[in-house]
Amino acid sequence: MSRLEENLRDVRARIDAAARAAGRDPAEVGLLAVSKTWPADDVRELAAAGQRDFGENRVQELLAKAGALAGRPECADLRWHFVGQLQRNKAAAVARTGAVVHSVDRESLAATLARAAQELGRPVEVYVQVDLGGPEGEAAARGGASPDEVPALCDAVADAGGLALQGLMAVAPRGGDPAAAFARLAALAERVRTDHPEAAGLSAGMSGDLEAAVAAGATLVRVGTALFGARPLPCGEFEEHQPRESQQSHGTQKS
Ligand SMILES: *Cc1c(COP(=O)(O)O)cnc(C)c1O
Repeated sequence: MSRLEENLRDVRARIDAAARAAGRDPAEVGLLAVSKTWPADDVRELAAAGQRDFGENRVQELLAKAGALAGRPECADLRWHFVGQLQRNKAAAVARTGAVVHSVDRESLAATLARAAQELGRPVEVYVQVDLGGPEGEAAARGGASPDEVPALCDAVADAGGLALQGLMAVAPRGGDPAAAFARLAALAERVRTDHPEAAGLSAGMSGDLEAAVAAGATLVRVGTALFGARPLPCGEFEEHQPRESQQSHGTQKS
């Protein structure tokens, strides 16, 4: 068994154990392999081992990897997901890949994606991203609508025509208790589902906090490091904008 296959087995075992501990059916919790910074060949290897969902946070990297793997038989039914901040001028390119977009955080982006979906003649699946707070600057770098804006944004997505609302997505704030943050997310998701029963998905949990997310009801955990290894520095993602220490000493907790 290769290192990637072992990691896949171990991560799947963590998800299954967390689901059982929470009294949930492990089959309710999907695994999204976040392959950002890792070569297409690693994606191909995990795909050959049975992994189907892959996520990227940069548009160029998504297009390059999806393109490189398009002709491979073991990658024929892969599902791509976009988990990074999305600019409107790149929304149509992401929609064309068929990727699920996890980072809809404003109505203008929803409208642009809806137009792209209409032009393509097929729906784009989207999650509304929630900002769960955290050190100042971190949320801005990561994106996400503030919780009080989320119900109206979900209404806008559902009404846009062309978008299929899957549910909510969030990243737990660094340094806080992920269980408390995911509990707030779960309560918000429940509220959204009263108006949008189709929005049954909850995209939450990463390598370090997937157990807490599964306990709170996550239906899709997004895992990079525990599958592929530690990402090389620098890679421009929000975690690496500043050293951890300076974020903690200067950051103020948003509520
Ligand atoms: C990178 C990333 C992940 C995966 O994080 P790991 O800690 O490497 O598992 C999940 N979600 C988003 C939005 C990411 O950018």
